[in-house]
Amino acid sequence: MRLTGQRNQCRGCKEYFNSNKAFDKHRTGSFHHGERRCLNVQEMEAKGMVKSSSGFWITEPRLMNGQDDANDETEEIEIDEDCGGEPTRPVV
Ligand SMILES: [Zn+2]
Repeated sequence: MRLTGQRNQCRGCKEYFNSNKAFDKHRTGSFHHGERRCLNVQEMEAKGMVKSSSGFWITEPRLMNGQDDANDETEEIEIDEDCGGEPTRPVV
């Protein structure tokens, strides 16, 4: 799998995400109570997330048509200690 731009792979659940926003959306629970975890596939789908034909989770089905949501507003991504740190990203 080639990772470009904001595309990343979660070190926790090994799923691929099309953007930091999508990655962030699949994380749930409280940092402070040690409850931070990944959503499973059913939970991601329940949130409206879909996996694109290229195998990357995206935040909304409207982004399916060859677009991605990586260029939406820049968001700070929280670091999940229990997820091995930052999502895997290529060195720019
Ligand atoms: Zn995950």
